[in-house]
Amino acid sequence: MSNIKMINPATNENLGIIEGFDKKKIKSEYEKARKKLITFKNTTIQERINEVKKIKKYIVENLEYIVDELSKDLGKTKSEALLMEIFPVLDCIKYYEKNAYDILRYKKIKTPIALIGKKSYIFYNPVGVVLIISPWNFPFTLSLIPIITAVIAGNTVIYKPAEDATYSAKIMEKILIESGFEKDVVTFIYGKSSEIGDELIEEKPDKIFLTGSVKTGKIIMEKAAKYLIPIDLELGGKDPMIVFEDANITRAANAATWGSLLNCGQACVALERIYIQEKVYDDFLNRILSNVKKVNQGWDTKGDVDIGCITGSNQIKIIEDQIKEAQDKGAKILIGGKAKGMFFEPTILVNVDHSMEIMREETFGPVISIMKFKTEDEAIHLANDSNYGLNASIWTKDKEKAMRVSKKIISGGIAINNALTSSANFALPFGGTKQSGIGRYHGPYGLWAFSNIKAVMYEKGLKDQDIQWYPFRKDKYKRFLSTFKSIFSERLIDKIKGLPYMIKIIRSEK
Ligand code: NAD
Repeated sequence: MSNIKMINPATNENLGIIEGFDKKKIKSEYEKARKKLITFKNTTIQERINEVKKIKKYIVENLEYIVDELSKDLGKTKSEALLMEIFPVLDCIKYYEKNAYDILRYKKIKTPIALIGKKSYIFYNPVGVVLIISPWNFPFTLSLIPIITAVIAGNTVIYKPAEDATYSAKIMEKILIESGFEKDVVTFIYGKSSEIGDELIEEKPDKIFLTGSVKTGKIIMEKAAKYLIPIDLELGGKDPMIVFEDANITRAANAATWGSLLNCGQACVALERIYIQEKVYDDFLNRILSNVKKVNQGWDTKGDVDIGCITGSNQIKIIEDQIKEAQDKGAKILIGGKAKGMFFEPTILVNVDHSMEIMREETFGPVISIMKFKTEDEAIHLANDSNYGLNASIWTKDKEKAMRVSKKIISGGIAINNALTSSANFALPFGGTKQSGIGRYHGPYGLWAFSNIKAVMYEKGLKDQDIQWYPFRKDKYKRFLSTFKSIFSERLIDKIKGLPYMIKIIRSEK
């Protein structure tokens, strides 16, 4: 199997080499995970929370070390590593510490009168061994959040990191080992997806949770279909921002600067399409241009840099090609547009339209593409004219308008008068519509995504016979008819007439 070279994309520093796993090793790791599941699935919710709290303790005690290691692997700034990688993981653990028991404990559900004598429950049982596959852009948060969620729900995990974030995965593995987290509950599998991708699925995990590109989502879905393995797909985005003329334009321009450039644009929820109402277009443009001129880009050693570099090895070419195609079709660069090594300059593009890839395909770079619109309907149409539907951002001081537009935008989340905030509250669901994915996680949705949600009906079982069992006879059939009318008819007379029959049925009288 090939080796994976780990390098700092900002400085080219060699961070080491790791050997990819072969088929035999993957098989034996799955066997370990399955064996561990036998005992782990029977642990209590509190015991699992206690395990996960060890990770929180370790992270808090080693914050700066983890920030530095993540920055080294990914070329991101220290503040971004802290705010966007580490904070969400701590926030997730804190949320589940407080809420997981209530979410996962068995629930008693109301039983209808027709089922008198019976009791209804929901059990949340683990799914089994789950395969979690993560991307390189936020490897810490997008790996540890699903891992922690799956573990709290009682599953064991096979985890495959992205090749470009192998060093970050080694750091996560170290955290689990050194924090004393229970062995074999989470297994790290290293290797190139082209070499080990098939094997990971051929081992038939009980569930697959992928965060990645649409292309990979389609491949995984097709392969999972062979064994009907349930999947959750958290895929790409091309998030729109709509700024109406009554919005706070200064705030909108500041948010657009951050929301488009964060993590050097390598965020599934980055603002990749900006639509400005014509009356405030020039004002917005002046403000965002002035902001972008002040953005400080570089390799961050002290915590005073705004944006870092591109992490993904193939990403620079994708960004360059999209900008070139847009220019060929009439787009104009206001600032930026070039790469120096892995540092792609913050870029503003205007005169863009929906015939260009830059407005249709994920860019995943620090490119702010801005378009003018006239009416509310046009803005909604433009925002929805996309294969993606992850998040959106709407700007107006008119709450009614904000709510009206929010209902019409097809996406998994909406931030009003802000960027990305719909994913800031961990209790809210996270996931995409259209090609941005299938499924939801975070909050209770995450624990349910990793659970077999089981319907259970209890009764004492003292009677020999239930009315709906054989034999069926003419008079019994009539009783059923009257009872149905009594239950479902809107007419009082039908309800009254059917009552004696219903009582007989409830008593299971022959
Ligand atoms: P990618 O699709 O190339 O890879 C994602 C993961 O899948 C990696 O671990 C990769 O090794 C693995 N993989 C690829 N092919 C595979 C195969 N055939 N079998 C098994 N595993 C395979 O994505 P990426 O470049 O690492 O990440 C960027 C993409 O992820 C962007 O499209 C971005 O929008 C998306 N993303 C989505 C979210 C979200 O929550 N919706 C969050 C972050 C990133």
